Amino acid sequence: MHKPTEHEMSIVRQIKKYGYPMMKLIPNNHPSLKQRLQVCSEDLDRQQMKDDLIACMEENNGVGLSANQIGIDERVFVMYSDVKKKEVIACFNPYITEYSEEKIIMDEGCLTWPGIWLKVERSEGIVCNFEDETGEHVQCTMHGLESRIFQHEYDHMEGTNFTRRVSKLKLDMAKKRATKMKKRSERIVV
Ligand SMILES: [Zn+2]
Repeated sequence: MHKPTEHEMSIVRQIKKYGYPMMKLIPNNHPSLKQRLQVCSEDLDRQQMKDDLIACMEENNGVGLSANQIGIDERVFVMYSDVKKKEVIACFNPYITEYSEEKIIMDEGCLTWPGIWLKVERSEGIVCNFEDETGEHVQCTMHGLESRIFQHEYDHMEGTNFTRRVSKLKLDMAKKRATKMKKRSERIVV
């Protein structure tokens, strides 16, 4: 007998709660990803939501994950607030009040779009606001990678995503590259 891992326990909790395990990324054409999320439900178990999102994010080796990426229509995401130290925060009802004028272009991926990498331009810094799992309001300034992750997840809250921040041509090229890479890795496997 082995001691159940945090991930296994999380799945058991979710089956009890929802009747089936929710921690599965939904396909990128799912309607949950295309609608602007309303403020979190009042009876939402925030700590549980945070734990479930973190478990799924880590399982998929992501640096951020929004609830609607796993089909839960709540305005919340988790992200690494310090990628190096691996500190994770949950942002409930987030919004951005300031964007720096300095913009940066960086390669970005998304758990919902495996294999797709896009050069996305975003503000280097932001002032962000959210509530934590205890309901406390937090305001902070983010820069660099953390600022980028927040802005990426915030797009999910608004029912959009990074593919809409590049031209159709660039997106098509990225999709072709992703297919090629997949084929190449299949050859290696065989
Ligand atoms: Zn994403």
